[in-house]
Amino acid sequence: MSNQMPKDFLNFLNNPDFIDGIYNYCDSWCERCAFTGKCMNFAMRKYKEDQNGEASIEDSLTEVFQQTTDLIKQLIEDKGMSWEDVLSQADSEPPTVDPHKEADKHQNVKAAREYTNLYGSFLKKEQGFMKSKAVEFQNDLNKGVISVEEAEVALSQIEDAFEVINWYQSLIYIKIRNACQLFFEQNLSDFMIDYYTGKAKLTLISIDKSIAAWLVLQVHFPEKVNKVTEILFQLEKLRAQIEKDFPDARKFVRPGLDK
Ligand code: SF4
Repeated sequence: MSNQMPKDFLNFLNNPDFIDGIYNYCDSWCERCAFTGKCMNFAMRKYKEDQNGEASIEDSLTEVFQQTTDLIKQLIEDKGMSWEDVLSQADSEPPTVDPHKEADKHQNVKAAREYTNLYGSFLKKEQGFMKSKAVEFQNDLNKGVISVEEAEVALSQIEDAFEVINWYQSLIYIKIRNACQLFFEQNLSDFMIDYYTGKAKLTLISIDKSIAAWLVLQVHFPEKVNKVTEILFQLEKLRAQIEKDFPDARKFVRPGLDK
C-alpha cells in the first residue's frame, strides 16, 4: 500500500461494497463482525496483514489517514496552493481549550473510569472465588448433579459474558471520552455533531451489552449478587447520564450497523 500513488489509493477507497464510515461507530470487534466484507478499515488491515503480517486497527486507520493526507496534499497542489500555507493558516488560530483534556474531566468519563476500576477490582478480588467455583462445577459434573450438556451451556455462557464485559469495559471509557468532546469543541459542523452523537450511541450499546453480560454472571454466581449489583448500578447510572446528555444518541442511525 505504501508504494501506491494517492490516486491508486482513491480507487481503493471507491470500492462500492464499502459502507461509508461504518468503522467510525462499530465496536472494533472484527472477529464478531458481520460486516467485514463492507468495511474499508478491515480491508486495509487484511491487505497489510497479507503483506507484512499482523496489523492492528490503529495501524490501518493511521495508514488510511496518511494516504488521505497525501491525497489532499495532491489536490491542494493541483489547485496551485501550498500545503504549508494551509497548515500555517490552521496553526494561526489555536483553540482556547483542549476538548480532549476537558472531556477527560466530564462526569460521564469519570463514571466510565469508575466502572473500569470496579471491574478491575472484581477480577482481582474474585480470582479465588472463580477457582473454587470451577472445582465445585467439576465436582457437580462428576457426581452427576449436572449433565455434560448443562455444564457446556453454563461454561459457554460464563465465558461469553466475561469476553463481552472485558471487550466493552475499555471501549465504554474510550468512546464516551470521545463523545464528550462535543461539549468543548467550538464551531462544530453538523457532521461533527453527528459524529460525536454516534460515539455516544456506541457507548450506550456497549453499556447495554455489558449489563446483559453482568446479569448472566449474576445468575451463575448468586453468591456475588451484591458486588455484581454494585457494578450494574454504576453502569445504569452512566447509561442514564449519557441518555440525558445526548438526547439524540439512541435515534442516531449508524451506517450499516443500525439498518
Ligand atoms: S465495522 Fe469494520 S472495523 Fe468495525 S468491527 Fe466490523 S470489520 Fe471491524
